[in-house]
Amino acid sequence: MKVLIVGGGGREHAIAWKCSQSKRVTELYAAPGNAGIAQLATCVDISVMDAEKLVSFAKEKEIDLAIVGPDDPLVAGVADAFMDAGIRVFGPRANAAIIEGSKAFSKDLMKKYGIPSAAYETFDNADAALAYLETAKMPIVLKADGLALGKGVLICNTLEEAKEGVKTLMLDKQFGSAGDKIVIEEFMTGREVSVLCFCDGTHIKPMASAQDHKRAKDGDQGLNTGGMGTFSPSPFYTDDVDKFCKEHVYQKTMDAMKAEGRDFTGILFCGLMLTPDGPRVLEYNARFGDPEAQVVLPRMKNDIIDVMEACIDGKLDEVELEFDEQAAVCVVLASDGYPEHYDKGFVIDGLDTFKDKEGYYVFHAGTKQTDKGIVTNGGRVLGVTAKGKTLVEARANAYKATEWIQFENKYMRHDIGKAIDEQ
Ligand code: ATP
Repeated sequence: MKVLIVGGGGREHAIAWKCSQSKRVTELYAAPGNAGIAQLATCVDISVMDAEKLVSFAKEKEIDLAIVGPDDPLVAGVADAFMDAGIRVFGPRANAAIIEGSKAFSKDLMKKYGIPSAAYETFDNADAALAYLETAKMPIVLKADGLALGKGVLICNTLEEAKEGVKTLMLDKQFGSAGDKIVIEEFMTGREVSVLCFCDGTHIKPMASAQDHKRAKDGDQGLNTGGMGTFSPSPFYTDDVDKFCKEHVYQKTMDAMKAEGRDFTGILFCGLMLTPDGPRVLEYNARFGDPEAQVVLPRMKNDIIDVMEACIDGKLDEVELEFDEQAAVCVVLASDGYPEHYDKGFVIDGLDTFKDKEGYYVFHAGTKQTDKGIVTNGGRVLGVTAKGKTLVEARANAYKATEWIQFENKYMRHDIGKAIDEQ
């Protein structure tokens, strides 16, 4: 089978690696891919947003299955373009990816169908938003409606901060049209857990849980990033939480989307907050999380192609998802200065150390092949994942493996998975 992966980050490297494990895959392509993916697939320089070129490339190569990794192309309808051209694709249509593309849509959906989430109001007028804040309880959360690279969420502790936030999102338009509309949401407290689910439009199957670390610095300090590391499973995702979510979140969301005429096929990422009053949905994403994919996929025992095809064919109920008992921890190696200013172009040494080391993986995000070798080419450079019998062992293994890699300005958090110790 010929497979084309759309995307070029750590998530897509993890997907490519998992596809390369499938006996069914004979040829693997990636657009645009990266230096790590290039070791497993033929990379072709096509933008993830160029639906026309992607489809004509897929036709030319007689691709049997396209997998769309990132949110932007899904929300923009790249999966639709493949489907409409008669190419089998894993990923939701734009009318379903809206569950991630519009926070107002997802909040309204949860309210309408009784899926537990924070109380909220939606505004498309800054004056009305400011007036509402005058009587609201602080802290409070402001969210740009549209996609904002994970940066359109502001947690405001005081009325002044909240007013400033409305200005930033709606008047100064820091995130462009993503802030034309905003959601103002009740502040919740608790542990955060991510659960990625395979969906076939009717059935939904959760994968092993994971937990992300969004802030740039140790102790959850510093700016929000795309994610600095993750671990799986989350010890906080207990059997009781799982039971609750199966009853009140996952299937209800599938049914709600179907009832709205927006059948969801692909990966539904449920970001949950385990509040003192029970689990609440923080957000939905319409794709694998990054770096969550980098711990969940190495633990998955199934052939990913079988599962993706079952999703496309509406036969997910016939699949039993299986995960390794071993835990996994991923530490992101970033360029010092990320998520703000950083230099790139530094040679990366030590990548070969991972070859043939079972239970250790290095997934490329911001890397580039040059005459000098593989060099840094982004904020998040690599994801180093290791497995272990326990989370504590997996974490020790992952940090050991980070030492095998050297590049100038290498930066990482040193407390990925530290919450495990609080158990
Ligand atoms: P991404 O897509 O990168 O995960 P996002 O822009 O979609 O991010 P959210 O996941 O909705 O944003 O929020 C980002 C973070 O803000 C959450 O992981 C959580 O830590 C915090 N947050 C969001 N909503 C709330 C809330 N109601 N109460 C407390 N914290 C919140």
